Amino acid sequence: MILEFSYLTSAIFFIVGLKLMNSPLTARRGNLISSIGMLIAVIATLWHRDILSFSWIFAGLSMGTVIGAIIAYRVPMTAMPEMVALLNGFGGLSSLLVGWSVYHGNLHISSYEAFTIYLSILIGGATFSGSMIAWGKLHEVLSGKPLLFRGQQIVNILLISSLLVLGFLYCTAPLENYGTLFAIISLSLLLGVFMVLPIGGADMPVVISLLNSYSGMAASAAGFVLKNNVLIVSGALVGASGIILTQVMCKAMNRSLFHVLFSGFGSVKKKVTSQVIGEIKSLVAKDAYHVLEAAKSIVVVPGYGLAVAQAQHLLKELTAILEKRGADVTYAIHSVAGRMPGHMNVLLAEAGVPYEQLIEMEAINPRMEQVDVCLVIGANDVVNLSARDDTSSSIYGMPIIEVDRAKHVFILKRSTAFGFAGIENPLFFKENSSMIFGDAKQTLQSLVAEFKS
Ligand code: NDP
Repeated sequence: MILEFSYLTSAIFFIVGLKLMNSPLTARRGNLISSIGMLIAVIATLWHRDILSFSWIFAGLSMGTVIGAIIAYRVPMTAMPEMVALLNGFGGLSSLLVGWSVYHGNLHISSYEAFTIYLSILIGGATFSGSMIAWGKLHEVLSGKPLLFRGQQIVNILLISSLLVLGFLYCTAPLENYGTLFAIISLSLLLGVFMVLPIGGADMPVVISLLNSYSGMAASAAGFVLKNNVLIVSGALVGASGIILTQVMCKAMNRSLFHVLFSGFGSVKKKVTSQVIGEIKSLVAKDAYHVLEAAKSIVVVPGYGLAVAQAQHLLKELTAILEKRGADVTYAIHSVAGRMPGHMNVLLAEAGVPYEQLIEMEAINPRMEQVDVCLVIGANDVVNLSARDDTSSSIYGMPIIEVDRAKHVFILKRSTAFGFAGIENPLFFKENSSMIFGDAKQTLQSLVAEFKS
């Protein structure tokens, strides 16, 4: 009774926490409330001591704490998405192991229990291997391009059909089918690989949020296996919020989930470069300073490179100077900028940029013609004109921040290299665009120095 009441309290804390995470202003409080909910759940589970012996709990806790602390301490902010991919994967793996261990050594398993084990293994296995592939793509040990082979569509249909048939066989006679369970484990791992390999660079935000949702569903299935209510509820909350985030990402990229998951399964789009007209102009900080000095309206478009350069504090320093001189400065945020949902919001919040200065793409685009200078800092795909203008581009249709409609565009990056999607950006060749080559931190430092002198 006390256990169930504690679990109910935890679930309420999780829901309130999630609600508060709706806004950046209350998100920290939301995080804290959710953590307290988790603490209540852990204490209640430990208190209900016949679930597991304390020595095992202590061993698991110490190992997990040491490994987690070392990894979290070492990971740079720019590698956070990779870490999230790994954490999603490990969540899936633990659900797989829970399902397997409950089956192993259990002499009485009903078809219903077998079904929960099957789901826990299937979703957990696919989440684990899919997340490992996502990690490989984000870490760039695997190509960000869709990886396909001929006949993959047929292989996928066969794979899913086999998993359904094997699941039916296993659930109808669980105890006689240990071999079948092994086949289910192997095929679910294979399913995760085939699910993520064909998804190309620019669609990765959707995959990350989808895998996050799958890890929640796998945890929920493990909750059914263990008959643990708080695991069922918390898994379902992660699953549902992951699906909502997936929808937000799909909307930000003007893609349907079906398109992201299955468009790669057919044929690879061969054309990855756009027809570009014009030539690249480059500026030094001193020249850019003269234009910025006269500008009345400035829009900053941050991207992944800003996070790599860790230049957010210098950016804040520069914009403070510009504001002091009377310019109106805003930050245009694209939902998929950076490498994880909300990446730019977190980065700018760290530098103390007020939330009111952040404007979403839909709100800034109609005002772009009145903007004197657009400062594109380490962003590329989110301002790639081929997404708007080139119907043959693989990112065609993804909404972008239309910086080319501003009077001047300054692009701060080290070279003309492609962004994550691996596509040429015609913006660099536009009449009103100028590149300021170099590490974003150094360029911003030079600009600040110009203003100070
Ligand atoms: P991009 O990856 O398109 O471009 C980043 C640019 O930053 C590069 O072209 C690079 O150019 C430049 N850069 C790197 N380091 C530095 C540096 N030190 N100083 C200055 N510039 C630097 O980033 P965007 O934010 O525009 O787009 C995000 C992309 O990532 C999208 O394709 C999105 O789909 C994908 N993605 C997003 C996720 C999310 O959840 N937000 C998750 C996974 C993928 P150069 O080398 O020339 O300097």
